[in-house]
Amino acid sequence: MIDAKGRLLHPGLVNGHTHSHGNLAKGLVDCVTLELLLTAGSWMNGHRTLEDKYLSSLIGAAEMVLKGCTAAYDLTGEFPMPTVEGLTAVGQAYADVGMRAVLAPMVADTSFFDAIPGLMERLPPALQKDVGRFALAPYKASVAQMKKALHGWKLSRQGVHLAVAPTIPHHCSRAFLLACLKLSKDYGTGLHSHVAESKVQVIAGYRQYGSTLTAYLDELGMVSPNFTVAHGVWLDADDMKRLGDKGASVSHNPGSNMRLGNGIADMRGLLDARVNVGIGTDGASCSDNQNMYENMRLASMASKVQGPDWQRWITTDEVLEAATVGSARALGLGDRIGRIETGYKADIVFLDLDHVNWIPCNDPTNQIVHSEDGTAVHSVMVGGRMIVENRKLLTVDLHELARKAEKARARLEAANRPARALYEKLGKVVGSFCPGLAKEPLHIDRFAGSHHHHAHAQFLA
Ligand SMILES: [Zn+2]
Repeated sequence: MIDAKGRLLHPGLVNGHTHSHGNLAKGLVDCVTLELLLTAGSWMNGHRTLEDKYLSSLIGAAEMVLKGCTAAYDLTGEFPMPTVEGLTAVGQAYADVGMRAVLAPMVADTSFFDAIPGLMERLPPALQKDVGRFALAPYKASVAQMKKALHGWKLSRQGVHLAVAPTIPHHCSRAFLLACLKLSKDYGTGLHSHVAESKVQVIAGYRQYGSTLTAYLDELGMVSPNFTVAHGVWLDADDMKRLGDKGASVSHNPGSNMRLGNGIADMRGLLDARVNVGIGTDGASCSDNQNMYENMRLASMASKVQGPDWQRWITTDEVLEAATVGSARALGLGDRIGRIETGYKADIVFLDLDHVNWIPCNDPTNQIVHSEDGTAVHSVMVGGRMIVENRKLLTVDLHELARKAEKARARLEAANRPARALYEKLGKVVGSFCPGLAKEPLHIDRFAGSHHHHAHAQFLA
């Protein structure tokens, strides 16, 4: 029995897309496109020990539960391939905080520089040699590691599961994508990929496959109810239809999409095409915090900023539904979490109605999406167990975490100094080549008749 007088209860928010390794890289970059962020990868994520991987995940999990989020789809990153030890360290962090997670190790067998048509040739020979260091493991080695992790995975009992994430379609060979699909089928896991996040990705896809990335993945058989597209800013009407018809999901990450200049995903178009839509924060290295309330508010605002066509705007009911039920379904946990209902896990957030955010309370849903910012989170329960009580995280000592994180931060700053210097050089080329590529007009007629047309026309102008 819990006395919840003066509290508003809502289902724990579910983060549809994040990256645990991003938490130690918070605040490192300001004005960067997605392509510059990918170029900065070895600087931001290099020299991570197992303890760093654990710490980075612990920071993110602590922030999420303190801000009302009880489960996350985490695309973890390890270079040059995932390891069982790395995944276990990340998983243990979630288990120690007491929140649920689906961990999908990001894998690829083509480096960013080889995946963008014409980019490698643009680099001076000395830099071409330098980026040779970014070569990834052969795909069979990555598959072997994932198989090993899936086979002996023990953290499911603590609510931490595994999935498969070919990170960006054209960063993976066809054989690798098919191997990922087979793994997900053999072990009954989700599949998650960054698709049409930036316009550069769409152009790279057309050059390589003569079709959109979604059409290519669909033809490989990857689009299914287990499949989640991250971002989907540049999906066209045909892509949305393919995703909707096959029961796939899109994690809408409006904060990250704005921060990296990728644009605004068409959430109304996705819902019209019957795509399951979740909401995500993306990693803290490019969207700064892990606050689902902020991303719910941005999902609402992003639909409204596009024009006065208010009948097509996303309502607060639809946003809250996406951030709970929608994301839960993307995680493959739609029958267990995302609702406060008999038969569902007791993942519940208790908001303090005496907090100034709630004075007065006219409409709970509207105010959860538009007024709440996480500061009224009083208590958080996961699976019936209180892990936040009276604004205090009960499972992790934040002072000790801060001390350990500062040590790791200082060590990584020094160790990654050469990688940062290399980024400064590479960034000059990437920062002019990729925006140039993105100036290429798309087959704009594919957007005809869709609401998306207007947003894209503005980008081209
Ligand atoms: Zn991502």
